[in-house]
Amino acid sequence: MATYLYDVTRRLIGFDTVSANSDLVAIDYLATQLESLRFKVAQQRIEVGGVPQCNLVAWAGPARADGLIISGHIDTVPFEGQPGWTRSALKLDDAGDRLYGRGTSDMKGFIAACLDAAARIDLSRLRRPLVFVFTADEEVGCLGAAQVGPALKSILGETPVPRLAWIGEPTSWQVSHAHKSIVLFDVIVRGRGGHSGAPASGVNAIAVMGKVIEAIGQIQEQRRSSAHPEQAKIFPDAPHDVLNFGTISGGMAVNMIAEQCVLKLSYRTMPEIDPTELYREVQRRIESVPLHDYASRNHDAEIELTPPVVTPPLNSPRGTPLEAALLEATGNHESGGVLFGTDGGFFARAEINSLICGPGDLEQAHQPNEYIRRESLEKTTPIILKVIDRLCS
Ligand SMILES: [Zn+2]
Repeated sequence: MATYLYDVTRRLIGFDTVSANSDLVAIDYLATQLESLRFKVAQQRIEVGGVPQCNLVAWAGPARADGLIISGHIDTVPFEGQPGWTRSALKLDDAGDRLYGRGTSDMKGFIAACLDAAARIDLSRLRRPLVFVFTADEEVGCLGAAQVGPALKSILGETPVPRLAWIGEPTSWQVSHAHKSIVLFDVIVRGRGGHSGAPASGVNAIAVMGKVIEAIGQIQEQRRSSAHPEQAKIFPDAPHDVLNFGTISGGMAVNMIAEQCVLKLSYRTMPEIDPTELYREVQRRIESVPLHDYASRNHDAEIELTPPVVTPPLNSPRGTPLEAALLEATGNHESGGVLFGTDGGFFARAEINSLICGPGDLEQAHQPNEYIRRESLEKTTPIILKVIDRLCS
């Protein structure tokens, strides 16, 4: 019965769409399938770091307002070199109640179910447009969504861009209307090298970076203690802005004054605030960090912040028809927040309000031996059909 669902899932897992690789073959396959199901199809070619990538838009139904977007990303996180794999990442491995393979949960299983649903709809019964948007390079900063969002108007032509989108990221079927922004940047401390026996001749970049870390750490402490209790309902794990020291590197040898130190940071701020606010706060605090190291005041280091790379937050309005349809179809009573970022932040910039809800489990996303539960995958098509019925019929 669900042969097509498994066929498509198997094909999609077989395409190596790790973000750094081109997704053209996978997108071409999806386009061909949707075309044969009589959807209008457009491919948006983009280039990321010299690699050709493609977003796919497929739509059906009359050119009226208030349609629905259903969306997923086709790229996956890497698997090569990731410890813990005992199965083949690119081969759908059917093991009873679990289906293994990179992207089964995040989120090729959902995309396969989109096609399975598309194959079962009577397109002549659609009263509002149904639009599938499958994006490239979500895992590396939602780069596909950043480009397809603003282009939808021209791609869809006379069909008005739907204002509601459902993104089937792995949430174990929980409905989410919010996530934090994600911002990445580096702090670079440039000191002055020399022999460690004569510290006064230089300035140690690692020593100065220590002060930078302390200053940024104090911001984190303050944000944590000013957490809003009402946010704990949406983000129970961290109802406040969070900062992370990702990696640090500096110095060349134990007997040399470290000339340079680079700290890579990320932070996630609450959805209702400007994502660059915390960056500016970090800038301000760093301005008052003493630039000399502990050994001498002869020389000052220089501190540089690279520009912030921003993935916008999601803060969708509540009580939309899509929220009602998803809660009903999944048997949930309320929507909350998710810990990860999604394409929804960029869709919001194109005035499209997204909800996040899908069959995979978050604990499976990005893991070795990633799998999706068979039961969860198989109920995806009926849920998609129910939601389409509620919003587009
Ligand atoms: Zn994902």
